[in-house]
Amino acid sequence: MKSMTIQQEQTKKIKKGKGFSTRQFRFWAQLGSFAIIVWIGYEFVRFVSFVERGGQIGPAPTRPPGVEGFLPISGLISFRDWLMSGHVNLIHPASLIILLAAVITAWLFKKGFCSWVCPVGFISEMVGNIGDKLFKHRLKLPKWLDYPLRGLKYLLLAFFLYAVFYAMSPDQVREFVASPYNKVADIKMLKFFTEIDVFALWTIGGLFVLSIILRGFWCRYLCPYGGLLGLFSLAAPTKIRRDENLCINCTRCAKVCPSFIKVDKVITVVSDECSGCLDCVDVCPVDGALDLKVIGRKKRVSKKIWAYAFVVAFWGTLLAFKLLGPWQNNITTQEYIYHTERMNGAEYNHPGR
Ligand code: SF4
Ligand code: SF4
Repeated sequence: MKSMTIQQEQTKKIKKGKGFSTRQFRFWAQLGSFAIIVWIGYEFVRFVSFVERGGQIGPAPTRPPGVEGFLPISGLISFRDWLMSGHVNLIHPASLIILLAAVITAWLFKKGFCSWVCPVGFISEMVGNIGDKLFKHRLKLPKWLDYPLRGLKYLLLAFFLYAVFYAMSPDQVREFVASPYNKVADIKMLKFFTEIDVFALWTIGGLFVLSIILRGFWCRYLCPYGGLLGLFSLAAPTKIRRDENLCINCTRCAKVCPSFIKVDKVITVVSDECSGCLDCVDVCPVDGALDLKVIGRKKRVSKKIWAYAFVVAFWGTLLAFKLLGPWQNNITTQEYIYHTERMNGAEYNHPGR
């Protein structure tokens, strides 16, 4: 019997059938997250219009605490306040819980928040798909421009960390937390979108166009939240590993990677840009050539288990806090009505101004 060639050996190992597709599962997870966020937005708009009418008409709608996911700076200041006081303040507790859930899951599952939960990441991907169709291949900036631009999100992150953990004194942190500005930060954030000015509109439009031309423009270059998660993700115990002996150098993994990582050239993916989307593992046609592995172990981690574990870890944490607290803030509807009537006053500007 003729001995098998290496190519034949590898062909034998080509995956049969599709099996569990993380790409499909991820799409549904993203769509589910997006639907939850749209629902939260709808409920919050109802709540704000109720308090703006002075609470006069109809029963009070419930304010959805999940809206605080859009207040990451408040969450960061609450984190420092928590370190100082030993307890979570109840002005915007959900902002802190969501921030911690994103950071802890980034440490365990890479930047899974960006590719499995974040609505901006989801929209960015959809917009990037338009770019793929228009340009037929993914455009990428040259290294001399790409590297410094990627540093921008870390500059923004450094600025926020400096301001919150160094420039603000403990008294200023406490003053900020209890300030009218912080109490109505969620309403101010909504007003930013409902009463958007021309400059902000042009900026968002510009980012939209740039995201068509350069996939993930906002996430790759400007998002400090993603930068923070990227740093924690470097310590993730699971890494994507390529087996050089099994790899047939088809380059599919590198072509599909939304973060432009040269997966086909490395043995282990170690990158702050890896969002843990698992698209590379999903498209690899050779069984065992590209897998998730715990550092120092040979046994692969099932992508299916990894995907379910991430979704359960992130949403399960939020659900646990929703049921057991702290989650709901302690600002009453009457207090919201009081603040909304005076929201244009000087005390509703940032305390540092
Ligand atoms: S390396 Fe793989 S998991 Fe990481 S971003 Fe690229 S495709 Fe996604
Ligand atoms: S997808 Fe990547 S890891 Fe898999 S065989 Fe092709 S080049 Fe190798």
